Amino acid sequence: MSLAQSTLDLIHELGNLIQDQEEEEEDNDRTMEEQIRQVLLALNALVGSKLLDKALTLASRRGAIHEYCSTPSGRLLYRVKGDNNAEYKVLLTGFCNCRNFMMERAGTELPLCKHILGVHLAKKQGTCERKIITDEEWSELYV
Ligand SMILES: [Zn+2]
Repeated sequence: MSLAQSTLDLIHELGNLIQDQEEEEEDNDRTMEEQIRQVLLALNALVGSKLLDKALTLASRRGAIHEYCSTPSGRLLYRVKGDNNAEYKVLLTGFCNCRNFMMERAGTELPLCKHILGVHLAKKQGTCERKIITDEEWSELYV
């Protein structure tokens, strides 16, 4: 399995755990927390602590990540407010227009930057703010 796929699998698992945690009774919280910790450790081992920490920070920052869903076609684009208020465009098919991604990550074994990983995490944590826009508006955002 590729490194990128393993990372996505872990994020998926993390999402399920977060969801389970919300449904569980309090006395199970400890085990859930421990499981979440284990998944985060595994993610950490795959992508490195620097990238993971930055992505987690982004994902937990209110209003840092917006999801733009086009109607009627349902295409998704994300705008992520990064450092110095710079804004980046992310597609979950594996694209970000930040310098780090374009210069160092695109086309590698692990095509992820903190913004892409941040969007994945924010979606699981439910911290992504969603906006519905028209297909025309979406195309304008995309270019
Ligand atoms: Zn990026």
